[in-house]
Amino acid sequence: MTDHPTFPDVVRLTAAATAAAIAAGELSAVEATQAALDRIAKVDDTIHAFLHVDAEGALAAARSVDERRAAGEALGPLAGVPLALKDVLTARDMPTTCGSRILEGWHAPYDATVVSRLRAADVVVLGKVNMDEFAMGSSTENSAYGPTRNPWDTTRIPGGSSGGSAAAVAAFEAPLAIGTDTGGSIRQPAAVCGLVGVKPTYGGVSRYGLVAFSSSLDQAGPLARTVTDAALLHAAIAGHDPLDSTSVDVPVPPVVEAAGRRDVRGLRVGVVRELAGEGYDPGVEAAFAAAVEALTELGAEVVEVSCPHFQYALAAYYLIAPSECSSNLARFDAMRFGLRLGDDGQAGAEEVMSRTREAGFGPEVKRRVILGTYALSSGYYDAYYGQAQKVRTLISRDFAAAFERVDVLVSPTTPTPAFPLGSKVDDPVAMYLSDLCTIPSNLAGGPAMSLPAGLVDGLPVGIQIMAPPFADDRLYLVGGALEEALDARRGHPLVAEAPAL
Ligand code: GLN
Repeated sequence: MTDHPTFPDVVRLTAAATAAAIAAGELSAVEATQAALDRIAKVDDTIHAFLHVDAEGALAAARSVDERRAAGEALGPLAGVPLALKDVLTARDMPTTCGSRILEGWHAPYDATVVSRLRAADVVVLGKVNMDEFAMGSSTENSAYGPTRNPWDTTRIPGGSSGGSAAAVAAFEAPLAIGTDTGGSIRQPAAVCGLVGVKPTYGGVSRYGLVAFSSSLDQAGPLARTVTDAALLHAAIAGHDPLDSTSVDVPVPPVVEAAGRRDVRGLRVGVVRELAGEGYDPGVEAAFAAAVEALTELGAEVVEVSCPHFQYALAAYYLIAPSECSSNLARFDAMRFGLRLGDDGQAGAEEVMSRTREAGFGPEVKRRVILGTYALSSGYYDAYYGQAQKVRTLISRDFAAAFERVDVLVSPTTPTPAFPLGSKVDDPVAMYLSDLCTIPSNLAGGPAMSLPAGLVDGLPVGIQIMAPPFADDRLYLVGGALEEALDARRGHPLVAEAPAL
């Protein structure tokens, strides 16, 4: 079934090419979907990206696309394209676990807005993919359902918390995936899996149905193999939603058009001085420098910019995110959702709640709930949470000052390539350092993209592009031009070099 006379390697097509072939009647949506399902059957025992595959639902959605195409209906630019959905977004017809035991077996009664928009765009949702429990982590090792492996080297982590999303796309199980990013969880997995990943401007994509980790930081966005594919997916999910009070009522930036412009002459690019040096792998720095060089060759004006408060971003994040999570996760009280333990007719509500949370949450979630409860407690609130909020303001001001001088900022996406599975599980602080470069954009709310920069000892690393809030199109403008230049230099897209599985 995977073999198709015109497209023998259907699963390697970009989303744009898949949709174009379907629209032209050269490939059916059912064939594209079946090819993805066959690929999952072949490689997912090794990769473990998927927690739930909805083969029947996916094929039914694909059949509907084929029928409507045959009837002459005009279809959208992603109609019939398969997608992997991070298991932190609700979908009516699938379980939602957030990578946690506490939600095992729970079915949401409604679709997240991102999911209803995907359905409206006729994107075929293949199923739910793995993640660090409640999106807390950088390796997907905090999933209660076992780790996902990096397709480039299956002894290594695929990044996190959207590791299942990234691994599925890098392993050619789907051309597209949805991830979420609170401190880097789309961009860091994209970087270490050789993909394009975008955290949209906070408020640009609805959080309705996105199970909250840290509500003031969480944002859903696209993972894809090309900048154009990411733009098409971004455009499909973005836009105002009255169901999310933090969704902003402004027009969606013209991301698809920007991805295709391929002209950065005269554009001002700032290299962030603070996101380099000690702790950064020399290979990462070299790949980053080469990508910046390519931007110069394309006619961009590159300058160095200082953002002095970025050095406090990680510390501020690890007060704000746990504080918000301690409050958000209070809803898992054994009464309303999922697991309930110790309800023997004798134990009181508090006892049931405590037994359920003890067994249902993993160690990282507990660590953060305790941290956040402490940081918010009376007597410590001003010293910790209040202070972190002040630092957050200073970081936003650093961005604002920088964007008076430049159009976009750039840095490496991560300090190192993918690390071996197991190597940081016992050292939370070492794990937290994975997000050194990505956290500032979450704290300030602006959009940011990770784009493949090159390989370091056979492992992908990324360049991060950051833009002011609501200028998401600038990421795609720079990303599209740089991708074209880097692909031309190596003769093909980076992900084409991923080892066969
Ligand atoms: N790795 C970071 C954390 O553990 C970011 C997670 C995320 O973006 N969801 O909090």
